[in-house]
Amino acid sequence: MIHLRNVRKQYWEQAHPALRGVTFRMKPGEFAFLVGPSGSGKSTLLRILHGEEEASSGIILVNNYDVAHLTRRQLPYYRRTVGMVYQDFRLIPNRTVEENLSFAMRAIGAPDKQIRARVEEVLEQVELTGHKHNYPTELSGGEQQRVAVARAILNHPALVLADEPTGNLDPKLSYEMMKLFEQINEDGTTVLVVTHEQSLVDRFHKRVIRLEEGKIVADEEDGLYQSCET
Ligand code: ADP
Repeated sequence: MIHLRNVRKQYWEQAHPALRGVTFRMKPGEFAFLVGPSGSGKSTLLRILHGEEEASSGIILVNNYDVAHLTRRQLPYYRRTVGMVYQDFRLIPNRTVEENLSFAMRAIGAPDKQIRARVEEVLEQVELTGHKHNYPTELSGGEQQRVAVARAILNHPALVLADEPTGNLDPKLSYEMMKLFEQINEDGTTVLVVTHEQSLVDRFHKRVIRLEEGKIVADEEDGLYQSCET
């Protein structure tokens, strides 16, 4: 669940605000693409939703947390409810796939047996069973990104955010990656994907939210990338 109202973000070193009164809602289990030109505030918005960056003002309610007023104690608990996928995968290079995933669960104090079972389960979901002893460099880009997705969903987050998750993948793998997000969404997880992939956005017939200069300029169900262009 996302409920943003009039969210502003001013970086002190910038002349213009990165976000200028962003308002939108996503119901639990919704899927949306977030599109817009470079510099329009997409990554800033995702970082705010992930609790990595503080907004300057506005109401930010996500997964029943008041994100604008989280205490330092609440922050790690909140972040467990949000999975994040980045363009550059961000796997730990000198750890195997299994270790990369276990690490994320160990951090929340899960017992070893539970970790092993859940790691198997998510690897099956992203079709990487058999790769758990590989190091990231031994995997293709598409496989590495699937590990990153497995890590994002490991702790059963209510919301998955992805920032240009197909930016380093070829068109076929990009399509498969979006199908994977669709499947995660069908399991009940809210999914918000930042992307520049016009043809993919058009193929998936999802909600499309468009940001320009820090403002939402279009928000359409079954939207097209282009129809959001001004
Ligand atoms: P997008 O993801 O749509 O490309 P960003 O959120 O990265 O847009 O950037 C929006 C605006 O905020 C840009 O003007 C950018 O230069 C600025 N900005 C982004 N991150 C920072 C930061 N950490 N510090 C200062 N300015 C930033």
